[in-house]
Amino acid sequence: MRVVVIGGVAGGMSAATRLRRLDEHAEIVVFERGDYVSFANCGLPYHVGGVIEERDALLLQTPESLRSRFELDVRTRHEVIGIDAAAQTVRVRDLRDGSETTHAYDRLIIAAGAQASEVFDQHIDGPTVATLRTIDDLDRVNAALADGPARVVVAGGGFIGLEAAENLVLAGHDVTLVQRGRHPLSPLDTEMAAAVIDELHTHSVQVRTGTTVRMLDADGTHLDDGTVIGCRLVVDARGVRPASALAREAGLRIGPTGGIAVDGHQRTSDPRIFAVGDGVEKIDAVSDRETLVTMAGLANRHGRTAADAIAWEAGLLDAEPDAAADALGTAIVSVFGLAVATVGWSERDLVAAGRAHRVIHAHPTDHAGYYPGAERLTMKLMVDAETDAILGAQVSGRAGVDKRIDVIATAMHAGLTASHLSRLELAYAPPFGSAKDPVNMLGYIADNRAAGTGDSIQWHELDGALADGATLIDVRSPAEHASGAIPGSVNVPLDDLRRRIGELPDGDLVVHCQVGQRGHTAARILAQRGRAARNLDGGYLTWKAGARMTMEETS
Ligand code: FAD
Repeated sequence: MRVVVIGGVAGGMSAATRLRRLDEHAEIVVFERGDYVSFANCGLPYHVGGVIEERDALLLQTPESLRSRFELDVRTRHEVIGIDAAAQTVRVRDLRDGSETTHAYDRLIIAAGAQASEVFDQHIDGPTVATLRTIDDLDRVNAALADGPARVVVAGGGFIGLEAAENLVLAGHDVTLVQRGRHPLSPLDTEMAAAVIDELHTHSVQVRTGTTVRMLDADGTHLDDGTVIGCRLVVDARGVRPASALAREAGLRIGPTGGIAVDGHQRTSDPRIFAVGDGVEKIDAVSDRETLVTMAGLANRHGRTAADAIAWEAGLLDAEPDAAADALGTAIVSVFGLAVATVGWSERDLVAAGRAHRVIHAHPTDHAGYYPGAERLTMKLMVDAETDAILGAQVSGRAGVDKRIDVIATAMHAGLTASHLSRLELAYAPPFGSAKDPVNMLGYIADNRAAGTGDSIQWHELDGALADGATLIDVRSPAEHASGAIPGSVNVPLDDLRRRIGELPDGDLVVHCQVGQRGHTAARILAQRGRAARNLDGGYLTWKAGARMTMEETS
């Protein structure tokens, strides 16, 4: 069997090496257009910042090492320029001398990744522009900055844009981050993005939102709001689209998202051609609809799936391999000292889709508060209002974020409900967690909501409730109330509530505390004494983050 792989990094090399482990006798040829294969693209920003000191540390394999260990025929600087699906051949250009050759395949795996979505309107005398996707890009960025500290514009405030911004600051540069949307990290809901902006400001990153780069010339970067930023370098991190042109031209089916359409075993509309990685359309685990997710874990996993499917067809496996699981979009990014992670859908996505849902905010510490070094987490869980299914989560903080998002992602993968999170038995000792782990806490709140013993209101619903005549009771201590309060709130500390209940005005009540926990107790006291009371979800902290972001967005 002759297997040709297009693209020699995450998905392509996972497929090639897995196939070799299953089939010692197949001829496996990998064509890679770049100079390097199997390099750590996820590590590129960290070399700019000097966190990964050695450039060579990013070069995980070479054609020689892949030949000696896996007997792979890896040809760098070879670009596949056409696929003839009927003849089962690919046309390949040797970029060293421009010569072209044709190669036959029994099975083809397309792992060509993604490419930048647009190019800038750029004058020749403008600043250097670089994406940050390849080793060549990395060299270009470092060369542009070799003369010492400079102003750099990072266009795009997604995961890669934020990593680039952080590392450019670490390397001593002044950074302006330009984000088209209302806040950096668009998968986050508004109130969850406040901490990201604070972190960027703390590290002197200038953040320009609601605007885009319009043009580049000798004066620098022109934004569409009229601002001009003099700079030496623009890092283009505005996002990518699937590299699906080869597949499209070969007549393979392209999905509605623009990615290559595949089945659960990564087979394209031509059963002899497989496709994996960023170029491929995925199925969203929450909606069952087509989506694009460009993450390394999926590329690696799908590479393995494609290899398994090819080996199965060749009679080399005893059982048909499982189909690939739908995509959850689990992701995490470090923004200086802050970790920010997401999985599944945001509240904004759910509102836009008109899907009935509940939202839960919590602010527990990453480990027992009495043990030194506890850090506050900000957590948000999206839950299906009818089935209690977990639809998504967002977590940020300075410690323990990765553990919590991964537990929730695992729960989603396993089909656990939100209430089930309360019943997970998670590792605990004071340096690591709490007897009620933050994930358990989300489960307890979800359980209360599902059981009808935890009526709540969201920060963005508060103004409407107050306009309708509700009274807002702050059940924190007088000192907490004095240090910052929601306008119009009346301070009745929780421990005085039973005694002072007669003072409360008639009508609906909304109670709140700092994070939502004392507020829940207050709402329970009031509800059991016949008062209609809702707890402000996530308390003052969530309200403050949301109100501040709303003010900044509208000013
Ligand atoms: P790639 O790994 O991009 O490989 C595609 C290869 O195909 C390229 O080398 C390209 O040169 C080659 N190619 C394309 N067309 C042809 C052709 N016609 N002929 C020959 N070769 C061709 N994901 C995470 O999950 N976590 C992270 O922290 C993370 N950080 C990232 C940081 C950066 C800076 C970048 C760029 C990406 C990051 N990603 C991260 C995303 C992750 O790297 C990708 O999801 C993953 O690499 C996709 O794998 P792939 O095989 O589809 O594409």
